[in-house]
Amino acid sequence: MNMKIEVVRCEVGADGIALLTIDYPGKSMNVIDQAFMDSLQGCIDRVRDDPAIKGAVVTSGKEAFVAGADLMAMEQNLDRTADDPLPVLFEKYGSLSRVFRNLETCGKPVVAAINGTAMGGGFELALACHRRVLADTPAAVVGLPEVKLGLLPGAGGTQRLPRLIGIQAAMPYLMEGRHASPEQALKAGLVHELAPPAELIARARRWLLETPTAVQPWDEKGFRFPGGNALDPRVAPAFVVGNTMLQASTQQNLPAPQAIQSCLYEGSLLPLEKALRVETKYLMTVACGPVSRGMIRTLFVSKGKAEKGLHRPAGLPPLQSRKLGMIGAGMMGGGIALVAAQRGVEVVLIDRDQAAAERGKAYAEKALGKQVERGRMAADERDAILARIRPTADYELLRDADMVVEAVFEDRAVKAEVTRRLDAVLPEDCVLATNTSALPITLLAQATTRPGRFIGLHFFSPADKMPLVEVIRGKATSDATLARALDFVGQLKKTPIVVNDARGFFTSRFIGAFVDDSIGMVAEGINPALIENCARQAGMPVGPLAITDELSIELAVHAGESQAQTFPDSYRPGRSVPVLRRLFELGRMGRKIGKGFYDYGESGKTLWPGLADLYPPATVQPDPHDLKQRVLYVQAVEAARAMEEGVLLSPADGDLGSILGVGYPAYTGGPFCFIDGVGVPAFVAEADRLGDLFGEHLRPPQLLRDMAAHGETFYGATARRVM
Ligand code: NAD
Repeated sequence: MNMKIEVVRCEVGADGIALLTIDYPGKSMNVIDQAFMDSLQGCIDRVRDDPAIKGAVVTSGKEAFVAGADLMAMEQNLDRTADDPLPVLFEKYGSLSRVFRNLETCGKPVVAAINGTAMGGGFELALACHRRVLADTPAAVVGLPEVKLGLLPGAGGTQRLPRLIGIQAAMPYLMEGRHASPEQALKAGLVHELAPPAELIARARRWLLETPTAVQPWDEKGFRFPGGNALDPRVAPAFVVGNTMLQASTQQNLPAPQAIQSCLYEGSLLPLEKALRVETKYLMTVACGPVSRGMIRTLFVSKGKAEKGLHRPAGLPPLQSRKLGMIGAGMMGGGIALVAAQRGVEVVLIDRDQAAAERGKAYAEKALGKQVERGRMAADERDAILARIRPTADYELLRDADMVVEAVFEDRAVKAEVTRRLDAVLPEDCVLATNTSALPITLLAQATTRPGRFIGLHFFSPADKMPLVEVIRGKATSDATLARALDFVGQLKKTPIVVNDARGFFTSRFIGAFVDDSIGMVAEGINPALIENCARQAGMPVGPLAITDELSIELAVHAGESQAQTFPDSYRPGRSVPVLRRLFELGRMGRKIGKGFYDYGESGKTLWPGLADLYPPATVQPDPHDLKQRVLYVQAVEAARAMEEGVLLSPADGDLGSILGVGYPAYTGGPFCFIDGVGVPAFVAEADRLGDLFGEHLRPPQLLRDMAAHGETFYGATARRVM
């Protein structure tokens, strides 16, 4: 029974000040749910009604202030409330906003003593207090990150913040989810004062006893928006320009920033009470739509579960790696060495000779040097990190390593040679991971005498920045090796997905399907500019022709040849192969030599006009809507095939991998959220339509036809049991 949980304690001191301490029993963080709201409302009633209470301080009994809404519960509730009538939903989505409004109009002054991080609803609670005192400690960050999960700050955030600091100043916090350190928060006017943590409550009390006010500025008669409301000539251009920029950056795929802009515009023309109702209406719209649902599910729920060890074999004690052997000091090796050293791991960075190994370390030197220059890191911290990276060509230094990652050339023979050398020196229990992009782990494991300790750890470029690691389990990989590898990924503070072994695993075959299909479009006579623009409008971060130039056409051709040699029986050349070959033969190797699908010059890049001579554009071009669908569907169909073949262990791995690893648009929540959002039967019908239009490779696999026939989904109550 939620009603009985005492989330907020109310203690009244002899001075008549009530201390409201938020301390959710049994949880490590304060989150906002029904029990929180009921408990806070109970305290507000008491503060309002008890004549002995002069005012209140709201603080937290945990390290952080309040983390925000309980998104886990919210995600689960969506199924239950799907058929609720609109007035019921409106009541529900407005409930927190009403509690906060009750707080600020209770007639007694209330101070937020923000002792640690206050995010989302937590910061909105603080905004509803008459004064905000923030602990002056780096951990006390404040912000409204809702937009990053497709939501909006719907408990007054879109209304109180602009009334406090002005519409334009509020925009980055609301529309980009920017957060602020204590220093920034004070400067921007988000809080009234900073206090040393030990003095926080005393400062709040002092204000209550000396100069209190129980009325918010926006409830004062004659209140005016700082800097003017949306119709003010100083502010109106921000909406015009802002709207254009928003359309350009989101391609109209993200409803939340648009809704926030509407809250700002419409809300600023209304008194607060009415403005809060407008905000609730927009919150309800975005929260019930598929975009926020997919984003919450993948970027919050699934990400959290993956990081907590969803696929980690049970019963094995966690182990931290102390010494990493990083073999291959190229682009990937340099980045992995840097991130490991940053997390306190000693790194032996090996390449073919000392000079090559030192070039790998230079990557870390440059990256950290920039941080020091920008004042983000102290010089001695940089030196300590760099001291942990030892460049060498000597394998003997690996005799006490507990983890090795190999990132030498993508060549089976080179990798086999390195593996044999490692076998000769590594201790028995050291895990040997390969960073191959596509070669099957089981195949590479043939080179070692201990295949049980062999595993794939697929990092993404740049390895020190990209958040995902795809962990690939070979046929012989042991549970202990998988657990150890996952511990290592956690130590690097990256998000793991775990997949079964197959050529291209999950992420490489997934992005490969998109790039291959798109280059194939060139040969179909589709205008290259249309291909690039439609991909970007569908939400891909970079057009497929530009990506191929970046990776290099030469590399793509060689990778195809090596696949053909390695898998003479199963290799099927993709649709892109003839196009890539022609460019390769013309010496157009890609971005690195300034010539590929694009010509690269001082002022940027333009599509190479000669492409039209090689592949004349057809007179009738496809409808852009169909091309955008094709971009999203060709990848979702490939993901469904990977699921059908058992490469993926769960839809969550596919969704996380696609967004965090290879840039599938976040607004979809990933291919499986996308398929569920469309509805499996509707997805099957549309994939068949695209198959009729563009080719058999767009047809849905049998798995999806079966799911459609049985009313199954990837998530929720009707989820198919995939493993
Ligand atoms: P790279 O060419 O930048 O670096 C490879 C390094 O390995 C070079 O420094 C080379 O001197 C070294 N090397 C070659 N043979 C060696 C040997 N016998 N002993 C020791 N060192 C040797 O390549 P990269 O882009 O860093 O890729 C490395 C691996 O990571 C490949 O398997 C690749 O498929 C994979 N990968 C690359 C990316 C990417 O985006 N570049 C992403 C994921 C995975």
